[in-house]
Amino acid sequence: MADIIKLLPDHVANQIAAGEVVQRPASVVKELLENAIDAGATLIKLIVKDGGKTLIQVVDNGKGMSETDARLSFERHATSKISCAEDLFNLDTKGFRGEALASIAAIAHVDMHTRTESSEVGTHIKIEGSKIVSQDVAATPKGTSISVKNLFFNIPARRNFLKSNQVELRHISDEFHRVALVHPSIEFHFYNNGSELFNLPKAGHRQRICHVFGSKMNNRLVPVNEETEVVKVSGFVCKPEFAKKSRGEQFFFANNRFIKSPYLHHAVSAAFEGLIKQDVYPGYFLYLEVDPSSIDINIHPTKTEVKFDDENTLYAILRSTIKHSLGQFNVAPILDFEHDPNLDTPYAYKEKEASIPKVTVDASFNPFQEVEAKPSGRPAYQKPNVKGWENLYEGLETPIDTESFSSLEIESDTLVQGNFYKDAEGEIHAAATFQLRRKYIVSTVKSGLLVINQNRAHERILFERFLGEITVKEGISQQLLFPMELSFSKQDRDVLQEIGESLTNVGFVFEELDKETVKVTGVPLVVAESAIGTVLDRLISDYKEGFEGNMISQAELLARTLSKNLAIKTGDVLDTESQLALLNDLFACKEPTLSPFQKITYTIVPEGDIEKKMN
Ligand code: ADP
Ligand code: MG
Repeated sequence: MADIIKLLPDHVANQIAAGEVVQRPASVVKELLENAIDAGATLIKLIVKDGGKTLIQVVDNGKGMSETDARLSFERHATSKISCAEDLFNLDTKGFRGEALASIAAIAHVDMHTRTESSEVGTHIKIEGSKIVSQDVAATPKGTSISVKNLFFNIPARRNFLKSNQVELRHISDEFHRVALVHPSIEFHFYNNGSELFNLPKAGHRQRICHVFGSKMNNRLVPVNEETEVVKVSGFVCKPEFAKKSRGEQFFFANNRFIKSPYLHHAVSAAFEGLIKQDVYPGYFLYLEVDPSSIDINIHPTKTEVKFDDENTLYAILRSTIKHSLGQFNVAPILDFEHDPNLDTPYAYKEKEASIPKVTVDASFNPFQEVEAKPSGRPAYQKPNVKGWENLYEGLETPIDTESFSSLEIESDTLVQGNFYKDAEGEIHAAATFQLRRKYIVSTVKSGLLVINQNRAHERILFERFLGEITVKEGISQQLLFPMELSFSKQDRDVLQEIGESLTNVGFVFEELDKETVKVTGVPLVVAESAIGTVLDRLISDYKEGFEGNMISQAELLARTLSKNLAIKTGDVLDTESQLALLNDLFACKEPTLSPFQKITYTIVPEGDIEKKMN
């Protein structure tokens, strides 16, 4: 048999390698920013167009490259950062593989200008798909500027896999944050499609965090500092009350490199135990310094996962350090002389004598009796103005013309027919309902026992209502007596802008104050005032994540999130009227059987089953 093994040509090998290094525009951004930092830049500009699909440019004022180095930098395994394997254990640069530029050049149109301090003229190189198109002498400032155009121009399959410009831009912003947060002494500018997204002056860590995430951060941060033989920890955790339902503002840096570590994340969460609820995550910006030889950053090609020699010790130190910092913060308010007007005695009461409260005892109180009162805080279930549900079922007792029957069949389940009865006067009533374990609404139908999951049912009802409102734009808004000012990070503000119209359609009323702050003057009827901040935060983060995974419409995504956050929960007590309204609304839905999250909303226990058990 003839020999069949061939060595792959360089450009093919480079394209294959590129797949590992460059997954999306954000990967290019990361590599270019890191190179600029390794080159000692003090000012870095990042310029992108169309989520980086059309252009990614990084301009730095670092040390630049000589003519030969400029050309060599695009070769695979060409690096100035290590020269032997031992160097790997003593890294103080971000890069070391010498793969990034070669990979990027294999799958894009690259244009590089560079000049060192000592040479008078610089070099201009153009490369397209690994082929050098031109190399000239050029007048250019000291430092390096690399533009990467038309990413994946020669791999259409990869290009088609890219998400929308907004999503790609979000990934780029994430990478930008990771780099900017750990290098506060470097000035950064970030432009997208010609407008400035970030202008970060040289600053300290705390200021940098505030410049990136908004000035509201400043009074949320609790400093963390500890130095041991194994590790030096510095940075900040966010106060427990600002823990969020979504992940996001959580950053670990090890030796100035952003890392992901579920194990260390757990250590931080453990330190917050008892201070925050189960389903929220604490925010943190933690900078770890360890001996470079005790850390292996080589195990993952994109280098965010690391391996520490002594993870258990790190865990313990981190946990106790943060606990300690939080403890100190907890006593701090006593020493804080900031004036809280809420604690003042109202004027009219100042001169009054204190009266002794009288105690009255309810002799008939039975602690074991089921509570029937409305829950406090959340408004009881409100039946929307569905005009006369009774009409829906009118005529069911009398012969029906086929046309209206067919539409009824689609709209509601047959069980509904048996769920209502006429009393002696001819009035239509629903069968009796009661609440079971504050979780289910139980009622009867012809065929047996109807059990509705109150939370899922309400999610379905709200989902259909919001979806309708977003599309027909007729959400009812309740005006806030005291408008609320909320501040957001730049990124979140952008998301809010994206979904703004839909939010307005369901009843939110916003006024823009400045880049960071938004004034909320109205909210949909179902949103309690105390929940506005959480609901918006949740909406923004769900929106960010939702568009990642599956391509459902913006309207559907928002309706889902709103319904999830605003629906009656398990544990909420409902009075009989609310129970009945819920039941009616559910069966007035287009798809009453499933919640918007594809969970079953109700079940029927057939009478036959009950009978069998009684035998
Ligand atoms: P690595 O960073 O792993 O060394 P790269 O492919 O990213 O590999 O870069 C190759 C080499 O090109 C670097 O080692 C460095 O010497 C040089 N280089 C890349 N970008 C810059 C820059 N912005 N300024 C100066 N030198 C650079
Ligand atoms: Mg590099």
